[in-house]
Amino acid sequence: MTKGCLFMRRILVTGGAGFLGSHLCRRLLTEGHDVLCVDNFYTGTRNNILPLLSNPHFEVLRHNITEPLKVEVDEIYNLASPASPVHYQNRPVQTTITNVHGSINVLDLAVRLGKVKVFQASTSEVYGDPAIHPQVEDYWGNVNPIGPRACYDEGKRCAETLFFDYWRQYELPIKVARIFNTYGPNMCLNDGRVVSNFIVQALKGEPITIYGDGSQTRSFCYVDDLIEGFIRMMATDRDVTGPINLGNPNEITIKELAQKIIEMTGAKSQLICKSLPADDPKQRKPDITKAKHVLNWAPKVSIEDGLTKTIHYFEKILEM
Ligand code: NAD
Ligand code: UDP
Repeated sequence: MTKGCLFMRRILVTGGAGFLGSHLCRRLLTEGHDVLCVDNFYTGTRNNILPLLSNPHFEVLRHNITEPLKVEVDEIYNLASPASPVHYQNRPVQTTITNVHGSINVLDLAVRLGKVKVFQASTSEVYGDPAIHPQVEDYWGNVNPIGPRACYDEGKRCAETLFFDYWRQYELPIKVARIFNTYGPNMCLNDGRVVSNFIVQALKGEPITIYGDGSQTRSFCYVDDLIEGFIRMMATDRDVTGPINLGNPNEITIKELAQKIIEMTGAKSQLICKSLPADDPKQRKPDITKAKHVLNWAPKVSIEDGLTKTIHYFEKILEM
């Protein structure tokens, strides 16, 4: 604690009441920092940050990052953006505005504060439906610019452009992480992403909804591993800008994931197939060579251990 206090900083986390943001706020508080959580509660919830509210080093500001932000902080993590396809497609214009105008507001704030470090939660979606597998950082991607996922994919791509232009034009220290599918406690019951959907369906004994034939792949990272990657990336020297892939390279098909969750929960659920959403990527797996080399980081939590913790979390939530 004493050591933490010596290096204590006031850190802004936009999207701090969301799934990843709430874990990041908790981790930063544990390290002895002051945390300012900014969120408009579009997909984030008060419940996620409830255990943090009694901490005198934690503050919450209800604010939409599409409006300029006037706060004093030493570092910024920009996580504000819906991340689940259901939610980002529900208000697609707002999704693009959040990622583009929101990033501009966050970057302007970082400049005004004397060029403080700013971290961007980018995404594997910048690779779209990738033609290169596994995905390496220098792959430019395959995104449909007019499809239903574009508000998010192109919004995040434009945000990366802005981050790198602020770095070139203002020498702003930036850290761009490309996050691959991450799961864990504090995902909302109605989040809509596959891990929470399957676990909640299994625990309720409802049919498990597989979109398409379930042969598409993803590579799932447990949240604690990811947050460790964030912290390591933020601690790097100025010359480390990213982009750096952060994710677990352990690739599985969606059908295998469903079977695993049924087995682990002991559910009697049937698998039912629904239509595959437009532009749904067929495969996804991060190449994390760069993260290993630059951050000395690799995920440690197995899918079985991560799912066990996540299943326990949803069991408790469903009992409430
Ligand atoms: P989430 O939806 O749980 O959290 C997003 C948070 O941002 C919510 O609290 C939401 O209310 C807030 N928010 C949205 N728009 C806002 C706005 N205009 N102003 C202020 N707050 C706003 O999603 P998450 O999984 O925690 O994702 C966090 C970040 O990480 C997002 O930027 C997302 O794109 C990125 N990311 C996540 C994953 C993943 O697998 N979880 C993968 C790739 C990228
Ligand atoms: N998916 C599914 N059933 C669901 C939710 C998602 O089969 O109830 C599929 C979805 O079509 C995609 C994969 O699971 O192929 C991952 O979806 P998610 O929304 O979690 O993330 P993303 O598509 O953004 O990677």
